[in-house]
Order: sequence, then structure tokens, then C-alpha cells
Amino acid sequence: MTQIYFAATPKQWPLYRDTLAQACARLGLDVTITQNAPDPAAVDYIIFEPDGVIQDFTPFTNCKAVLNLWAGVERLVTNPTLTQPLCRMVDPAMTESMAEYVTGHVLRYHLGLDGHILNQDGIWRHDHIPPIARKRPVGILGMGQLGQAAARALHSLNFPVMGWSRSEKSLHGIETYHGEAGLVQLLSRAEILVLLMPRTPQTENMLNAARLALMPRGAKIINPGRGPLIDDDALLSALNSGHIGHATLDVFRIEPLPAQHPFWGHPNVTVTPHIAADTHPDTAAQVLAENIRRGEAGLAFLHIVDRTRGY
Ligand code: NAP
Repeated sequence: MTQIYFAATPKQWPLYRDTLAQACARLGLDVTITQNAPDPAAVDYIIFEPDGVIQDFTPFTNCKAVLNLWAGVERLVTNPTLTQPLCRMVDPAMTESMAEYVTGHVLRYHLGLDGHILNQDGIWRHDHIPPIARKRPVGILGMGQLGQAAARALHSLNFPVMGWSRSEKSLHGIETYHGEAGLVQLLSRAEILVLLMPRTPQTENMLNAARLALMPRGAKIINPGRGPLIDDDALLSALNSGHIGHATLDVFRIEPLPAQHPFWGHPNVTVTPHIAADTHPDTAAQVLAENIRRGEAGLAFLHIVDRTRGY
């Protein structure tokens, strides 16, 4: 019998208990799933999330993998006690949600929706007709699971999409860039920029004052990646000078974003409370079960985290 220790936050337990048991049963797995582990050495798999109930993975000497419920792993890769294989969450419903969030906010900017929805004042303004999407270049920093899904969604609406990643990529219909020179090219053309990179020492503050200055005047920024990707002070001064037209931020250095933070109430910032793309238990349970099946069959795990890269 395979022992699964559900060590995510307790509020997740009712969402996963039956769904995960059913997903394992469908794959023919004989498992017990528990919310506690009196004998850590008997645990085969740990299901985890940051702020979960354990911090020390040392006693789980026979654990074959730690399966994270979140896509981001920055708070796990620095845990020195976590020596077991670590898998991050790649959930098809989360991917879909992110593509929807990005597309919605890109269209808001592209069509100038705020100008019509907010503060209707009885004045007939016929002076701003948006261009068609194919004339609005959008840049995406981070072309992994989520960046590629967002890119495909925007490409299907005819936006010219440019994507930047650490490694070189070739994606149908998307202009792909890598390296510093590629980043400069992308930033200098992106009228709307989407950040979908992980937080690592290399990506921290990557959107700094010098790089913001490369962007076209009035460019918009959408950050559903991680807060520390942006130098907050540099962004605020670019917003205050009008060089950056608006920013939609879903993630922050401190979450929840403190009530006194200047992003709240800034006329050119929209704050969303880390809701761009949640993990959906019904689809995520299938991903967890498939990885457990693979572990039991001696196959390679899916979505394994590379500790040296940090994502
Ligand atoms: P992923 O598949 O690992 O993709 C990450 C992308 O970032 C890859 O294209 C990677 O390049 C690129 N990258 C990493 N380090 C880089 C660097 N130093 N320079 C240039 N590119 C770099 O991750 P994902 O599943 O798409 O998720 C991305 C992030 O979204 C997560 O880490 C998490 O922080 C965030 N997220 C947010 C929410 C939300 O609700 N707001 C939900 C889920 C995830 P390579 O392709 O070359 O490796």
C-alpha cells in the first residue's frame, strides 16, 4: 500500500481528499492518503505547498517525491532539508486560467476599455479608435507552460507576440528571443509586457529602471509572475513620469499587499490579489496521481524542479 502524506495547508484537505483518492483509483493505485504521518519513514509521497504543515523533510527517509500544489517553488528550493525529488504543479486548468487572465488584461489595455467603463461623464469622445490587434506588439518574459499558453491565446487574436526565455525556442507564430540582446529588442517594441517568469536569484529585479526606459512611452505592464521580478521603486517612478502608462499587478514582494502600499490607490496601477491562476483540485489531482503512478512504476517524474536553475 502506497502511503501519501497530505502536508499541504489544512484548508486544502476537503478539496483533495476524495478527488485524489478517486484519481489514484482510476490509475489502479493502491494508496492511503492521510493528513498526518506518525511514522515518517513509511511515507512514499508528500503533497505539499508553501505554508504547509512541515518545514523539515529530513525524517521522510523513504519519500520518493515531494509533489507541490503550486507552480512556483522559490520557497521550497531554498529548504536544505528537502533532498527528495521535487515536482512543481503543472495543472491544465491553471494554465487555461492564466491564458484567460493575460488575454483579458491585454484586451483591456488594447481596447482602452477603462476609458469607456470608468467615470462616464456624458461627453461623446470619438477621438480614440484602437488599432486592430495585429498592430499591437505584446512581449512575454518567460515562455514556459504559462507564458506559452498566454502567447498562443494572444496569437490566436492576431497580436504580434514576442517571447523571451532563458533558452532558445522555436514556437509557431511567435517571435522568440533569448539573451540580453534579445531582451533589449523585445522591450523596445512591446506596447504591452507580460511577466511570467519564476522568482530566482537571476530574475529578481530583472525589470529595472534601465529596462523600463527601453520600452515605448505609455507601455503597459501585466505581472502575474512574481512580485520581485520588478524593481517596485523603478516602476513607480516610471508610472509617475508617464513613461509607463499603467500596470496590472497580481503578485507582490509581500502578500497580502500591505494596505498602505503605494500600489493601492495609484491611479495607474490595478492590483489583483494573486488570483491570476489558481490550482484546480479536480485537474491537479489527476496530475498528482499520474506522478505517483510514475514513481511506483519506476518511471521519470513529470515537472521535476531543477534545483540548480531554481525552477
Ligand atoms: P515554467 O514552465 O518553469 O517557465 C518559466 C519560464 O521562465 C521559462 O520559459 C524559462 O526559460 C523562463 N526563465 C526562467 N529564468 C529565466 C531567466 N533567468 N532569464 C530568462 N528566462 C527565464 O513556469 P510556468 O509554469 O510557466 O510558471 C511561471 C511562473 O508563474 C511561476 O514560477 C510562478 O511564479 C508564476 N505563477 C503565478 C500564478 C498566479 O496566480 N499569479 C499562478 C501560477 C504560476 P526556459 O524556457 O529557457 O527554461
